Amino acid sequence: MKQPYLLPDISQPGKAGCSLPALDVPPAALPPEELLRTELELPEVSEVELVRYFTALSRLNYGVDTGFYPLGSCTMKYNPKWHEDIARFPGFASIHPYQSPGTVPGALRLMFDLQALLTEITGMGITSLAPMAGAQGELASILMVKAYHRRRGDAARRKILVPDTAHGTNPATASMCGFEVNTVPSDSEGNLDLASLESMMDEQVAALSLTIPSTLGLFDPRIIEIGQLVHQKGGLLYGDGANLNSLLGKVKFGDLGFDCVQLNLHKTFSTPHGGGGPGSGPICAKSFLADFMPSPIAVKKAKEYSFTSPAESIGRLGAAYGNFSVMVKAYAYIRSLGAAGLKEVSEDAVISANYLKEKLKADYHLPYDRACLHEVVFSGKWQKAKGVATLDIAKRLLDYGFHPPTIYFPLVVEEALMIEPTETESQKTLDAFIDTMREIAREVEENPEVLRTAPHNTPVRRLDEATAARKPDLRWKMKSQRPG
Ligand SMILES: *Cc1c(COP(=O)(O)O)cnc(C)c1O
Repeated sequence: MKQPYLLPDISQPGKAGCSLPALDVPPAALPPEELLRTELELPEVSEVELVRYFTALSRLNYGVDTGFYPLGSCTMKYNPKWHEDIARFPGFASIHPYQSPGTVPGALRLMFDLQALLTEITGMGITSLAPMAGAQGELASILMVKAYHRRRGDAARRKILVPDTAHGTNPATASMCGFEVNTVPSDSEGNLDLASLESMMDEQVAALSLTIPSTLGLFDPRIIEIGQLVHQKGGLLYGDGANLNSLLGKVKFGDLGFDCVQLNLHKTFSTPHGGGGPGSGPICAKSFLADFMPSPIAVKKAKEYSFTSPAESIGRLGAAYGNFSVMVKAYAYIRSLGAAGLKEVSEDAVISANYLKEKLKADYHLPYDRACLHEVVFSGKWQKAKGVATLDIAKRLLDYGFHPPTIYFPLVVEEALMIEPTETESQKTLDAFIDTMREIAREVEENPEVLRTAPHNTPVRRLDEATAARKPDLRWKMKSQRPG
């Protein structure tokens, strides 16, 4: 792909992409000479060149709107555009967080109703929409765990147990809240090792932080027993519910023994994400934790909607009420699908992942050969033995026009390839991906060099990813500042 995407390369002195109207006011004096820069080297281009430049740039991007994006744990699914339109209705988009709640009863009602819907979906007692990311919902949950034990006068609980398969934010959250993080190993089936949990669970443990389904895409069949073990010793069970698209309408966190969970509206409930876009990580808790919920909570009294702050609230998580536009999209999604539609979402997500699992397990090592939920984790260790790393496989997928899956996570799987197809992909797309993965497995045998040097037909070749992430080069530079 050769594209003139550096503006100076098409710049020609004297060209302009706009014309200004004649001055009809007296010209103002320029600032003093010493404050003016004269060396500015700005590109000079016509309108059509400018449009082509930005259009070319936009085509360098890969997104859910352009292709399959099976990034495990991230749920990069397609989100209906209609929900974007609804979030842009002036009554939602043009209101201000600081205007009096009495002037926006519709917005408050939407928040109140969404709280009720999420409470119902999770089988909990109360919901707060305040957290603005999954990780912030985790933080709020663990702060609530802390507040709960403190109110009971139990200061000895200084540990949080976290499985070795956990998303990185889980141990980070526990540690940010001042807890000691103790890692619980998984067993050979990919479940939490019950014997280890039993020996680690004592009166110093504040909570077990558990992702279900786990980041291996597996549902732990002994979840009820796990909850009982934790509760017997006075601990709480906190759930990371970021990947709810596998459980919707099928099973409720409340029935599984969880005391508090966070959801990711931007994964499960129709908000496109990635690149740091707006998120929302509501928390849903059993009623005995209601006093600690983050504020505000939308309430309804005698047909009037207002906000309240629970008695011993852990406080606010931001200046206003959370990411309202994400709430609008989640509400629209839930209401347009209805109960039967939500159930179908999780059925389709689970069928898609299991389809990939069965079709690819002859070509890639499947460490846990059992039914999975919304995602499947393979190991690239057969390919690694032939000198091709999982990173090479991921880069080669780019040549075939696919976004790679999550790689090298979860950490318990060697050379992990964590594939989440999501519920919105057609069988045709899944088949094309399967064919490509099989083709890559063949290339490992026949032409490993083409993998080790991939990608070959992308705008940039293999990047130094650590430097690209830490020192991103995002700004247009003058010709004189650009390297050779
Ligand atoms: C995505 C994810 C998170 C973090 O959510 P953010 O909104 O990115 O903070 C936490 N846990 C799991 C299991 C996730 O998949």
